[in-house]
Amino acid sequence: MAEVLVLVDHADGEVKKVTLELLTAARRVGEPSAVVVGEATGDITAKLGEYGAEKVYTAPAELNDYVVAPKAELLATLAADKSAVAVLVSATAENKEIAGRTAVKLGSGVLTDVVDLTADLVAEHSIFGGGVVAHARVTTGVPVVAVRPNAIPAEAAQGAAVQEAVTVELSEGAKAARITDRVKESKGSRPELAEAAIVVSGGRGVGSDDFSVVEGLADSLGAAVGASRAAVDSGWYPNAFQVGQTGKTVAPNLYIALGISGAIQHRAGMQTSKTIVAVNKDPEAPLLEIADFAVVGDLHKVTPQLTEEINKR
Ligand code: FAD
Repeated sequence: MAEVLVLVDHADGEVKKVTLELLTAARRVGEPSAVVVGEATGDITAKLGEYGAEKVYTAPAELNDYVVAPKAELLATLAADKSAVAVLVSATAENKEIAGRTAVKLGSGVLTDVVDLTADLVAEHSIFGGGVVAHARVTTGVPVVAVRPNAIPAEAAQGAAVQEAVTVELSEGAKAARITDRVKESKGSRPELAEAAIVVSGGRGVGSDDFSVVEGLADSLGAAVGASRAAVDSGWYPNAFQVGQTGKTVAPNLYIALGISGAIQHRAGMQTSKTIVAVNKDPEAPLLEIADFAVVGDLHKVTPQLTEEINKR
C-alpha cells in the first residue's frame, strides 16, 4: 500500500494530539509513515504506532535549528524517495509555510486549513477567512495537505512503527535563516489553545485586563483561554492567545465567546468549532448568527453563575 507521510508535532517527549488526528486521516488514504524531526523516544514511537504509523522516519534534530526550509527539503526528499502519495502536516502557521514550500519542491499543490479528507484525497477546507467551505483536490503531483487541529477525530489502530533514520543533505538556501533563540510560551496548567477541546475566549466586552471571569470559566471546564484582537490590542491578554485571522485558528468541540461581537476576522479563526456559545449583551451581535446557543446579557453577571453551576457538578 502506498505511503502517506505525516509530519509529527511533538514537544517535551510527547506527541501532540493533532498528529494522531493526521495519522487517522492518513489511514484513509494509504499506509501512514510518521516523520519525526529530532529524537523519537520510545514513548513517541509507541504512541505513533498506536495510531497506525507503519514506519517512523527520524531526521536529525539539527533541522529544527533553521526556519522552515529544512523541513520542506526533508519532506520533499522523502516523498520522492518513498513514492509517497500524500504529505500531511498540521495547519499551524509554521507548518502551512512548510507545506507550501514542500509542494513547490514537488511541483504539486497544497491545500490548507483542511477540516476533512476522503480516501481519494478530496479535501474539505475553509477558505477566504473561513467565509467559504470548498472541496478541492490537487491535480498534479503529490498533494500536500495542512489539516486543522480538532477537525478529524483521532482513532487508534495498531501499526508496526518500524524506525528508520533518514538523513537529508541540506542546501545552502535551507540554512539561510538560523534560529538563534526560542521564546518559550509559558504552558501553565491549561491546555494548548490550538489543540484544546474547549476554548473560552474574552473580547472587548470583558472591559479590562482583569480576565479572571474568562479564566474562571475556562478552568471550571478544563479549557484553554483565547482572546479577540480588541482585547489583545488593548493589552488585556497576551498576543499568543489571539484567535482569528491574524491569530490562532481553533476548532474545538466547544467555543465560548464572552463579549465578542463576531467580526469576520475573529470568525475566521473559530467558526469551524463544533458548538459555539456566545454571551453578549447585544442581541444583534453578528456572532449570534453562527452561535448554537446564545445568552443575551452582561457577561459579568452570566459567567460567574455559569462557572459556579459547573463547579458544583
Ligand atoms: P467589539 O467588536 O468591540 O465587540 C465587543 C462585544 O462585546 C460587543 O458585541 C458588545 O455588545 C459586547 N459587550 C460589551 N460589554 C459586554 C458585557 N458586559 N457583557 C456581554 N457583552 C458585552 N480580530 C480578532 O479577534 N482576531 C483576529 O485575528 C483579527 N485579525 C484582524 C485582521 C485585520 C486585517 C483586521 C482589519 C482586523 C482584525 N481583527 C481581528 C479585528 C476585528 O475586525 C474586530 O475589531 C475584533 O475582532 C473585535 O473584537 P471584539 O469582538 O472583542 O470587540
